[in-house]
Amino acid sequence: MPSLVKRVIALARINLLNEETSNKIAAGEVVERPASVVKELVENSIDAGASVISIEIEEGGQKLIKISDDGSGINPLDIELAFMPHATSKISSIEDIYAINTLGFRGEALPSIAAVSKTTLKSRISGNEFGKEISINGGVKEYVKEVGASIGTTIEVRDIFNNVPARQKFLKSTQREASLITDIVSRLALANSKISFKLINNGKKVLTTYSTENLYDTIRTIYGKTIGDNIIKFEKHTDIASVYGYVGNAEISRGSRNNQSVFVNNRYIKNKLIATAVETAVKSFIMINKYPFFVLFLEIFPEFIDVNVHPTKAEVKFENDREIFKLVFDTVHEAIRESLKNNFEMELEKPIDADVNDTPNKRETVQIPLDLKTLEEKTIALNNTGISKDFIVNEKQIEAKDYTAPVQGTTERITIEEEKVPKFPALRIIGQFHSTYILAEAAEDFYIIDQHAAHEKILFEKYTKSIKQGEVTAQILLTPVVIELTPEDFIYYVENKDIFKVAGFDIEVFGDNTITIREVPNFLGKPEMRSLFTEILDNLKNLGSGNTHEVKYNRIATLACKAAIKANDTLNIEEMKVLIDTLRFIEDPFNCPHGRPTIVKTSLYDMEKKFKRIQ
Ligand code: ADP
Ligand code: MG
Repeated sequence: MPSLVKRVIALARINLLNEETSNKIAAGEVVERPASVVKELVENSIDAGASVISIEIEEGGQKLIKISDDGSGINPLDIELAFMPHATSKISSIEDIYAINTLGFRGEALPSIAAVSKTTLKSRISGNEFGKEISINGGVKEYVKEVGASIGTTIEVRDIFNNVPARQKFLKSTQREASLITDIVSRLALANSKISFKLINNGKKVLTTYSTENLYDTIRTIYGKTIGDNIIKFEKHTDIASVYGYVGNAEISRGSRNNQSVFVNNRYIKNKLIATAVETAVKSFIMINKYPFFVLFLEIFPEFIDVNVHPTKAEVKFENDREIFKLVFDTVHEAIRESLKNNFEMELEKPIDADVNDTPNKRETVQIPLDLKTLEEKTIALNNTGISKDFIVNEKQIEAKDYTAPVQGTTERITIEEEKVPKFPALRIIGQFHSTYILAEAAEDFYIIDQHAAHEKILFEKYTKSIKQGEVTAQILLTPVVIELTPEDFIYYVENKDIFKVAGFDIEVFGDNTITIREVPNFLGKPEMRSLFTEILDNLKNLGSGNTHEVKYNRIATLACKAAIKANDTLNIEEMKVLIDTLRFIEDPFNCPHGRPTIVKTSLYDMEKKFKRIQ
């Protein structure tokens, strides 16, 4: 990925900005809470070209924040200067601010932090045998001395805000502060895949990333396998900017925007415009009222932005909002469209126009976007392609008999039964491959159906529908399953017990942190109840707060249906027929509840091209 912005490594000596310059820079509260201290200090390490950064915190950072890096270090002659207001090695005049590409530049962080804590900084630059250490307590210098040190910088910030009771009052619980720190470190790690980060909270490792060239690897390290399995890449470069990153499917959408990260020129920012552009692009495919997961990088010439709108709120302003919105929307939209297209293409034959003087059996293919589910939407789409409404009706005719192209000039309409709309043509089954895939054909197309994914989706739609209607059929377990939960899980179960009840699980509390499962949904057969239950509980927990009941039911249904499907079943032709005939009429047969495709289609044309029968 060609970078528009090159980071300047802060090997330069430190300058004191003149009064005028410093006044022009919006002064801000840099040190709001422990997480903002961590952010400023880690950014300094990044600016110093570090390749390994380790962060240690105790008691949510209030007792200790210790950051070590292997960056360039600070020149021993500058070590005191670094703690003076407006001392920075990163810019020297106001012009530089508009072309800024280091993370820091205001020269405010170190003095502000040292004013409200006991700070010790030790640093050594290459070429020097010794390092230098400075200690400052509540803004007052205690000592500066020569010390042994490895190249790079280590800074220890203790007892932050001890001398500022007013500020201390605003801090949240130590767990909450620790999680804010984890959040900011994760974001910095995402933006800097090449740097390895280590975060230790009260002696326990919270986060470790490894140096990689690949953003995907970093996302997977930070967010885990489930998210890694449910994201797709997007990327686009134009004259004004480059945009790239990963966006998630419905499976990993959340009730909050927590899992969204925007980086402009590698700086983590909050930006409504960009978030809305991504969300709008996703919503045009997935019907959800949740927020999609995404990690997005926008690289743009610094002249087109102003990062200094507010120094601490991490906002930027663009010269041209509309262009940025369109770029982001188009990029994400195209990527999703492409990925869906690879899963399944719904192709329709276009009837031959009476006044077109073409060879009589020439065919044209029209693609209907997959995201259009309802008949009306399809009609509009088709109208836009210039095909008559009658054609839509003919699409439905496929259900009854083999599809025949309408005769020229016919305007005959066929009455449609409302509910039974097939989503793809009736298929002739050819056989089964690997006890997993059903092979079938219709007209000039070859279909491959993942039988487990298809079965799962059928169960899923049936189950979620019966949950909605409050009529899940349950089976009584011969031997009730007793499960001992952790106190945290138990509380979580109790908070959600109505959800389980409606979903067809009859559960009793059986004493301290212990529950008994007596009834489960009928379609489950004989599931491994213990693991299914804990998996559901974990998943619900991971959904985070603020989710609707529907989201929770969908999650339960996804997991339950997966558990209900046994792998590698050899089906006979009759069973395959039933499966496919059911699949044709469900609401959305093309993707399994996890978002993976259920059906893949290849046309005769593509096949012949592969065999080089045609060019
Ligand atoms: P700013 O980052 O805005 O320049 P700071 O107060 O954060 O201001 O830091 C002041 C200066 O101290 C920086 O410009 C840089 O030269 C130096 N500095 C701070 N932290 C480090 C570090 N970890 N490694 C090397 N130099 C550092
Ligand atoms: Mg800084």
